[in-house]
Amino acid sequence: MSREIDKEIAEKVMGECWHEFIVTDEHYPDPVTMNCKKCKKPDYDYDLELKMWSPINGNLHYSTNIQDAWLVVEKLKEKIYKERIQFITELECGIIKDYDIDEIDGGHDVIFHLTPMAICKAALNVR
Ligand SMILES: [Zn+2]
Repeated sequence: MSREIDKEIAEKVMGECWHEFIVTDEHYPDPVTMNCKKCKKPDYDYDLELKMWSPINGNLHYSTNIQDAWLVVEKLKEKIYKERIQFITELECGIIKDYDIDEIDGGHDVIFHLTPMAICKAALNVR
């Protein structure tokens, strides 16, 4: 469930490819040379700063990790005013509904109930 949301966030909100790697030769699976079947990128990227190979973005967990979820918030920050307002409204409404909070005070309490999943659900409702 959460990985489905992560995939939707990557593709619909972040504008990224949610990579799907396939082993082309079952007898010699080589993790460093597999390519994504959608964007054709290799599954590992060489980081010039760290001077090492690292897996490309399949390790992002937008809906369960607050640090990754914050990338979604940063992405929404770049959107036009109407979409930013809609995101905040969706966030408030989602949290009020999920936690059964008094609607009048709800807006003030959003920060206390903020979860990676709440951020993702709100972001997916922005049109
Ligand atoms: Zn890809």
